[in-house]
Amino acid sequence: MAAKAEAPSIAERISQAIMEHRVAPGMKLAEERLALAFRVSRTKIRQALTVLAKEGLVQLHPNRGAYVTSPSVQEAQDLFAARRVVERDIVCNVVARAGKAGLRRLRQHLAKEARARADNDHRTLIKLTGEFHMLLAELGGNSFFIKLMGELCPLTCLIIALYNAPNAPACPDDEHSGIVDAIEAGDAATACARMLAHLDHVERELNLGPRDKGDVDWEAVFG
Ligand SMILES: [Zn+2]
Repeated sequence: MAAKAEAPSIAERISQAIMEHRVAPGMKLAEERLALAFRVSRTKIRQALTVLAKEGLVQLHPNRGAYVTSPSVQEAQDLFAARRVVERDIVCNVVARAGKAGLRRLRQHLAKEARARADNDHRTLIKLTGEFHMLLAELGGNSFFIKLMGELCPLTCLIIALYNAPNAPACPDDEHSGIVDAIEAGDAATACARMLAHLDHVERELNLGPRDKGDVDWEAVFG
């Protein structure tokens, strides 16, 4: 039983490293090296990797081992489409349910983001911007949305690591506070519109455009 209790904490630490971009998409997660690093048996590492595979952060290949997931452009676009649907409802729920205590937590969170930004603490900022969206899911109160966001948020971080310019912020500066302002005003329509604009903006920052290798402008290349 003890082994079972330990696996999630290793999984959590690996997941955190992926979300903070310290472990890159596509990187091999070698059992023996992780076992040495965590000072545990390979069995425990294998359990952790299985947990991460269920969350979609790790791909297990029968003979080659475990790799950090490297989502395709199509998967990245599908993920943002899913987030737009889910987070629109989450924000509506937050407007209806958050109350004063919820708003206080949102404001406290924004203050932490602002501090990380002022300190140029990029790693903390990436973590906090993901946590903002998880906090909204929690305050919205729908347990299925919370579970879904628990899966979508880490994958979003991976996608940003893969397709964004290095060191670009995960979420643009003032957009989170704009969403919270609308929530505080009890204005569900504006809060939803700002969330959708925010997700569009994050997606636009990624380099997901068509990579058409078949159509070269030869004149421009050699003319
Ligand atoms: Zn955001």
